[in-house]
Amino acid sequence: MPLQRIDTVVVGGGISGLAYAHARGPASELVVLEASERAGGLVRTTALGALGEFHCELGPETLRFEARGGLTDMLRELDLVAERPPKESRRRYLVCRGRLVEAPLGVGKFLRTPLLSWRGKLRMIAEPFRSKHLGNDGSVAEFVRHRIGEEALQGLLDPLVSGIHAGDPAVLSMRACFPRLVELVEKHGGLFRAQWKTRGEPAPSVMKTKGGCEAITRALAAALGAKLRLHARVHSFAREGERWLIESDAGRFDAARVVLAMPAAGAAALLAHAAPAIARRISEIESESLSSLVHVYRREQVGHPLAGFGYLVASREKLRHLGTLFSSSIAPDACPPTHVVLRTLLGGARAPHLAAAPELELLDIVRAEVHPLLAIRGEPELVAVQRWRATLPRFDLAHPARVQAIERALPPTLSLLGNYLRGIGVNHLVAAARTLAQHHGP
Ligand SMILES: Cc1cc2nc3c(=O)[nH]c(=O)nc-3n(C[C@H](O)[C@H](O)[C@H](O)COP(=O)(O)OP(=O)(O)OC[C@H]3O[C@@H](n4cnc5c(N)ncnc54)[C@H](O)[C@@H]3O)c2cc1C
Repeated sequence: MPLQRIDTVVVGGGISGLAYAHARGPASELVVLEASERAGGLVRTTALGALGEFHCELGPETLRFEARGGLTDMLRELDLVAERPPKESRRRYLVCRGRLVEAPLGVGKFLRTPLLSWRGKLRMIAEPFRSKHLGNDGSVAEFVRHRIGEEALQGLLDPLVSGIHAGDPAVLSMRACFPRLVELVEKHGGLFRAQWKTRGEPAPSVMKTKGGCEAITRALAAALGAKLRLHARVHSFAREGERWLIESDAGRFDAARVVLAMPAAGAAALLAHAAPAIARRISEIESESLSSLVHVYRREQVGHPLAGFGYLVASREKLRHLGTLFSSSIAPDACPPTHVVLRTLLGGARAPHLAAAPELELLDIVRAEVHPLLAIRGEPELVAVQRWRATLPRFDLAHPARVQAIERALPPTLSLLGNYLRGIGVNHLVAAARTLAQHHGP
């Protein structure tokens, strides 16, 4: 195959690679090489049912929009509209001794919640008196235990961490997973003080694009046109003087710059010869695997009103699933009013084997654990399983130093994007991609 000379090759057509390529602008000379038959990576919305009447998310369910920048600007450029889910779906639930309890978001609910004893509540209220220096560079568990106590860790934070990172709070680094909270404590002296001092500042909103999250990656792919090549797995790349030689299913490229926007394991494998020291550091990053099971019922089969976003499960409950999203409450247009769509997540650090367990085993868990919690009678009308293998990186205690070392070692013509670096949320990834594109210019 002839060698094509080009300015930039982007490897990976997930949200990171697409957002970067889009932000470089129409005049940029670049190509995005995506291994699979579709763009979007983990961002995936599918239509289920005989008529495709159930629109379900298999990857991200909703996205966080900052008031300005990143995702908000990108959506405007793509002419896409994001909407807040209905008000009632802002309610979140936690499992407490085998039943659903509303998460205590607000003073009244906090005082009444059965999730914490009075001793646990008093310990939480004492947060402003805790030292602002302790726990910030430790695990999520150490930070939370120091600031708001053991009960709050077990009852409130443990399920939240499972919901976002599918990980173990004792292993995850607070600074890597929740950098904003550490920053607020260091700046204002405590979480409650920070909340008071930053009141009135615009808070990020949880929203969803019309047509589902994949509407964004579809629009990015359409805007890129022929610059995006599908079925274009990159096999190898090597340094040739100041330039890079890339071999892929879509041909050979001679590029001035390469942006790797792919998962950690793939990036480490590609870099093994061209940049072995960086590859070694990336290969230290472990990732959690998940199964996501969509299950659809007729509305009258479900006794619970599903007026909320969903629920999360704390480890102390000894259940095998991590939580369930009330997908049809978050996006009522995505499903006929006669039915409800639920999505249960299983696997992660708590039960790694469930990421690969057969569909029947996952469905048995749903029947045994989810059905009683939501008062569901009978069988689901539709079921769909999506496996996500090694997709959620484990930001362990060594992660902040590791990422700094990786970034310091990168030559100026090689860049990395992806959820194994500084944040897993799509909002973080888009912001990082756009900052890099701005730095590289059109
Ligand atoms: C179940 C689940 C729920 C989530 N929920 C949310 C949520 O609610 N909100 C949120 O903000 N985030 C959520 N996330 C996280 C978010 O979806 C991901 O972090 C993000 O989509 C990752 O995007 P990416 O482009 O960095 O990587 P990916 O999406 O993994 O894309 C990488 C791309 O690179 C391609 N590729 C790999 N190897 C090669 C190669 N050799 N050559 C060419 N191409 C290659 C892959 O095919 C893939 O398309 C969730 C993730 C999961 C798994």
